[in-house]
Amino acid sequence: MKSDLVIVYHRQPYEEVETETGIAYRENSSPNGIVPSLKGFLGHANRGAWVAWKEAEDTSNPDFAPVIEISDSFGTYNVSRLPLTKEQVRSFYHVTSKEAFWPILHGFKERYNYDPVDWPTFRSVNWAFAEAAAEQATDDAVIWVHDYNLWLVPSYLRQLKPDATICFFHHTPFPSADMFNVLPWRKEIVKSLLACDSVGFHIPRYAQNFVAVARSLTSAKLIEEEMTSAALAATGVALNDRITPLALEYAGARVNVHTSPVGVNYNYVADLACAPEVADHVRSIRADLGDCKLCLSVSRTDYTKGNIEQLEAFERLLTRRPELRGKVKLMLVSVGANRNMTAYAEIQERIEALTGRINGSFGSLEWQPVALISNAIPLAQLVAYYRAADFASITPLADGLNLVASEFCAARDIDHPGALILSEFAGCAVMLEGAVPVNPFSHASMDAALDQVFSMTRDEALARMIALKRSAKYWDIQAWTQAELAHFQTLRAAHQANVNLTDTRPAA
Ligand code: UDP
Repeated sequence: MKSDLVIVYHRQPYEEVETETGIAYRENSSPNGIVPSLKGFLGHANRGAWVAWKEAEDTSNPDFAPVIEISDSFGTYNVSRLPLTKEQVRSFYHVTSKEAFWPILHGFKERYNYDPVDWPTFRSVNWAFAEAAAEQATDDAVIWVHDYNLWLVPSYLRQLKPDATICFFHHTPFPSADMFNVLPWRKEIVKSLLACDSVGFHIPRYAQNFVAVARSLTSAKLIEEEMTSAALAATGVALNDRITPLALEYAGARVNVHTSPVGVNYNYVADLACAPEVADHVRSIRADLGDCKLCLSVSRTDYTKGNIEQLEAFERLLTRRPELRGKVKLMLVSVGANRNMTAYAEIQERIEALTGRINGSFGSLEWQPVALISNAIPLAQLVAYYRAADFASITPLADGLNLVASEFCAARDIDHPGALILSEFAGCAVMLEGAVPVNPFSHASMDAALDQVFSMTRDEALARMIALKRSAKYWDIQAWTQAELAHFQTLRAAHQANVNLTDTRPAA
């Protein structure tokens, strides 16, 4: 049965594990906020489908099932597993996406590595994703493609399914034109995105950047914009943009530019944080800490996440304010992903070395200033740390959104408000009112933010945390789901009313 909503995302909605009775499917263990958010949509389709890749050396093996049916609390849906060889995955994902696109998306030109990119492989993998998606979709389905490693899928899909409503969503930042245009394949990528009915971003700034890129490379014209909603313009942060673009016109077609930040499952996190076993865990963490304050920082190990800057700021704090030695502890959860990639291995080594230096310089038998955790902590335990901490410090140099910051707010107990230090360069900084904004590129700003938190009155902390919790709840996952579903409906209606426009769309 064909699907009226096809989600195209490189990871499967489940991990496969071999058990004695056969293959079982379980939740992805990797800390990734996108999969659980997207799974929620499958329950809203007549029949949903999900297209992902699965490593397979012999793609002609008759035991390989390219399409499986999953039934879970979201309903029954197909998962189409595109078989890719190890070499295809390395080339399309680890090289092109992570070594060339990722640094550019996050503004790290100096880390961009163009030489090993095999563009024909990137194209052919994207083509295969488009074919797999087209196979699952009804002719007028909504096909929703996610993230930069599938940038070419929309133009291929437009050829295969001219009457489908094609949407693309970026879960990363989208950079300015002078950064994006470093990519030699820039025009092909942008033309593919312009084949969509809608191109989505977390925040207005990324949407503005996309518009600037499209205008720099094509004849696309901005045809609609509006003042940014107050709910997406937290006070004085670098990523704010006063204007939100709404639509471009390109080759006679309207391309909607859609801004819609993904939120966290606020009630789920808040309820989990109140569960009796979490309360016990929180009590035991606090008892172990005694009168020592806990600063919590949680992220993947990635040069974009600012963990080095975080550790350096903590080292400066202990140097500057000797009275805090023995009185404060940094719990740095930096989950090592992609260990086989040089860039990540190198950052992990620097984090470990710096942690060792701080603990060696300031620590004692009774007190280790930094607790570095490199393995993922399950959410049920993580919320206990969110609740037990005195403050969280989330200081990425660039981050599409950052779900951890919103989860922290959802988990907090208003009786112990605590505080959130939040980088101005995390997308969620424009959504979360009440954080202490910090510029992770400035020592002075990082130092001042820590000092501000240590001297904050309880009244101020309470007022800030109430505002933080309100904004995290306002932008929670239900809000995002409803906004996206309403957007699909509008697009589908417009698409059906304008079917003739598809004839004038450019070929890829
Ligand atoms: N996470 C987790 N355990 C950990 C560290 C992180 O479950 O030890 C989860 C965290 O709860 C969040 C996600 O991983 O939902 C990270 O999402 P975020 O947007 O902050 O960062 P990303 O890794 O997607 O860039």
